[in-house]
Amino acid sequence: MKTKIYFLFTLLFYLQICQAQNEYSFSQEALLGQSVPRFYSTSVPLLPEVGKAFEKMQKAARNAGIELEIVSAYRSYAQQQSIWNRKYIANAKKGLQPEENIKKIIEYSTLPGTSRHHWGTDVDLIDGSKQRNGDVLLTEKFHGDGPYVSLRKWMDKNASKFGFFRPYTQDPDRKGFYYEPWHYSYAPLAIPMLKAYLKLDLNRLLIPESLEGIHAVNPEFLSQYISEHVLGIAPNLK
Ligand SMILES: [Zn+2]
Repeated sequence: MKTKIYFLFTLLFYLQICQAQNEYSFSQEALLGQSVPRFYSTSVPLLPEVGKAFEKMQKAARNAGIELEIVSAYRSYAQQQSIWNRKYIANAKKGLQPEENIKKIIEYSTLPGTSRHHWGTDVDLIDGSKQRNGDVLLTEKFHGDGPYVSLRKWMDKNASKFGFFRPYTQDPDRKGFYYEPWHYSYAPLAIPMLKAYLKLDLNRLLIPESLEGIHAVNPEFLSQYISEHVLGIAPNLK
């Protein structure tokens, strides 16, 4: 009897370890946005665990009179590539040289394969109870007398209770992407995903075939980009 119980406990312990390992094993495709994950729902295109936490946060915000509305959640590699190419072509038309052009793009947009939006853990949010006017993801709309000030303040106080943090903070010591008051990341999954991501052979994987300005995306650029942009995030997401 005792041996049986001991065996059962050992088995349960082993199964728990397997589960924990499973939880934190991510495929290369998933980390680079080259596969579409199973979403929480069609209206919440986030990983199931992230979507569940998001909905809890959304309910709590609603009780405070704020309607958390998703502007962008999961984005694929292909979508990121088309954003990049569109911006590159527009900047080139304005006369920007390749290096300047890329510098301009990476103020707010990522090189395809490096977006946190690929992971299904990150989301851009506005207050859907306010009237939309033109571009919504602008810093000034979250400050001063902008329409999303109450959202920002509510999130400052409450987002962490649900596991969400802003990666691109106003911290003057942070390098990389500009401050994005609308962007939130679900730490319990985004942290292990970043760890797994950094283990990939990024120098090989991030040189794409059909990217505008490809010749300026060289190993030197990449290593600086990874240290300043990919890792230029709030410390509580590392
Ligand atoms: Zn974003």
